[in-house]
Amino acid sequence: MRIGMAAVGLWMILGMTATAAESVKPEAVLIVHKDANEAGVEVYALRDAEITVNPAEVLQNINLTELAKYVPGTDVPRGSGPGGWDGANPQTMDLAALRRIKELDFLIPNVEIPLSTAAFLVKWNGQNILIDAGAGKANGGVMLESLALAGVRPEDVDAVLLTHLHFDHVGGLEFEGEAVFPKAKIYLAKAELDAWTTDEGIAKLPEMQRPWAELAKQALAPYQGRIIALEYKTVVAAATVSGEKTDHRVPHQRDFPLYSFTFGGHTPGHTTYDIAINTEMWTNLQFIGDMVHIAEVQMPRPQTSVVFDVRPGPVREQRERTFKWSAEGGDFKDFLVGPHLPFPGIGQVVQEGDGYIFKPLILTKDRARGGAD
Ligand SMILES: [Zn+2]
Repeated sequence: MRIGMAAVGLWMILGMTATAAESVKPEAVLIVHKDANEAGVEVYALRDAEITVNPAEVLQNINLTELAKYVPGTDVPRGSGPGGWDGANPQTMDLAALRRIKELDFLIPNVEIPLSTAAFLVKWNGQNILIDAGAGKANGGVMLESLALAGVRPEDVDAVLLTHLHFDHVGGLEFEGEAVFPKAKIYLAKAELDAWTTDEGIAKLPEMQRPWAELAKQALAPYQGRIIALEYKTVVAAATVSGEKTDHRVPHQRDFPLYSFTFGGHTPGHTTYDIAINTEMWTNLQFIGDMVHIAEVQMPRPQTSVVFDVRPGPVREQRERTFKWSAEGGDFKDFLVGPHLPFPGIGQVVQEGDGYIFKPLILTKDRARGGAD
């Protein structure tokens, strides 16, 4: 697919280059399958785009010396410049501060790493539910072709649950003014809706992000009348599973909620979605949205933020708490599912030293296995 100049411009303002987006192939990977005597859930990862990002350009609350521990080569400056900078050591200066000093621009290394963007399809309780909608055809996204590979047409989508309104998650809702999903209801946090569609909300956004409000409004415009604004924690849907095939360990009847949890930070109403998928072990899928962008840095060092985090403090707290919970596990298994985690984007975190590492997993036929086969 050719990627238009407008699309390249959009990815560029996110600090990313779109070179790889032209060659990405649609792909749908079944990452979770549970039998019908449980919640009867299938989850597919839908590939949308593959872009490249320079971590030194987008990360903050980290310096070049620290970054080089996780991304090789980031301690090599891209050019040569003046020696001596008034006693400061640029290698230990926070990246956000370093980027502000134009004379030190030569120090920012030219290191690019791949970043996947994806959406997820949850087939559950007779419903086709999308978690996010990808960047959209106009921005080089191939999510719709990936959706077709999972056997679902746009008109078969019942609901789209949005984690937030950045364009790589909502650009796919609309094409040339029309709703891409003609029958879908759109769910998102009220705080997110207000932040990007009201004058008061937009005025409070960081200046750099204010132009993105137009894109958010454009994506939602064809869905007026079927947008559902969620409070802080809401049960979005629930499946009742009766116990015909259950054994003694399984309660006769149980409700499986799919609930939203809004904990703003990355954006004012950034929301994660959780589904409990197993009656015997408490197994939970947590769709984490943009809590993590660059797993190879933010998992070993969760305090690292990205420039797109509107309030980095709360996201950092949320990352630390979520990783701890997922790593400690016990009877309760918390699997993270993320659009920017290495595709297909599901796994657990495992404690290593002071931080964590990502352990990719695919859950099918009631067993977890590694790899993406
Ligand atoms: Zn994103």
